[in-house]
Amino acid sequence: MDYSNILQEVYEKVSKEEGRGGVASYIPELAKVDPLKFGVFFKEINGRDFGMGDFDEKFSIQSIAKVASLCLAYKMLGEKIWERMGVEPSGTPFNSLVQLESDRGVPRNPFINAGAIVICDILIGELNNPEEDLLSFMREISDNSSISFSENIAESEKSTGYRNVALCNFIKSFGNIENSPEKVIDFYFKLCSIEMSCREISCAFLFLANGGRKISDNKQILSESQTKRTNAIMQSCGLYDESGEFTFKVGLPGKSGVGGGILAIHPYKYAVTLWSPKLNSKGNSYKGMRFLELFTTKARSSIF
Ligand code: GLN
Repeated sequence: MDYSNILQEVYEKVSKEEGRGGVASYIPELAKVDPLKFGVFFKEINGRDFGMGDFDEKFSIQSIAKVASLCLAYKMLGEKIWERMGVEPSGTPFNSLVQLESDRGVPRNPFINAGAIVICDILIGELNNPEEDLLSFMREISDNSSISFSENIAESEKSTGYRNVALCNFIKSFGNIENSPEKVIDFYFKLCSIEMSCREISCAFLFLANGGRKISDNKQILSESQTKRTNAIMQSCGLYDESGEFTFKVGLPGKSGVGGGILAIHPYKYAVTLWSPKLNSKGNSYKGMRFLELFTTKARSSIF
């Protein structure tokens, strides 16, 4: 199927629509981003690709990086990681503390902040140089040596990230953080500060649409079962307390970030990344959701 006409049509329609919501301002650096940016990059496992708008401009991928940190920890430790967190949707905002009290410090899933912070703790325990090794992994999956952290964004988040510091300390109090909270939270802020373009994100995570294998060199990043499970968690938890709505309207595994990006995967078909910085009240890109809803409906291309 040639998706390019539908992609173009939906892009033009959504571009003209009123951009609702606002850019994330709780991280001061993110408030400086031009709210009118809009990019899409679509890449099929057969090699065909299609980009529109600002698809080659790097932006702060924020929580989309939680897919990479999960994949790296899952690759290294296998099913053992599920002793430290669950695979259930939380139904609460991404930075919520409330369930941790009754769940005794075990986060509901690896995509809410609490779960990603535990993944960071796991990676610190497993890697010699966590920051460098994480970047090497990102560069390996994307065949792109330009992928880097943004010191500015990481520092900016650190200056206001009281809630994440609280999460990390709270989990530590239940014994589910092994390293020092300072070290873990610094690594978490670094993870969230990675900058990539829509094209780079789609290329990096295309292996999730290809049974865990990279397209360029056929290297197995995750096993087929781990890939299925990662996509399943994206489906049920990737958009926080809007994951049900995203499944309902879009029908693809997805992962959002407060930088305004959304990655969506159609298993065994394609990866597509959207970027539009204005967020809805759940912290997800307003136009990103809108684009994907129209695209999967018109192209009859959801998994349902
Ligand atoms: N760094 C952000 C935070 O912890 C990530 C949140 C997100 O992208 N949803 O608040």
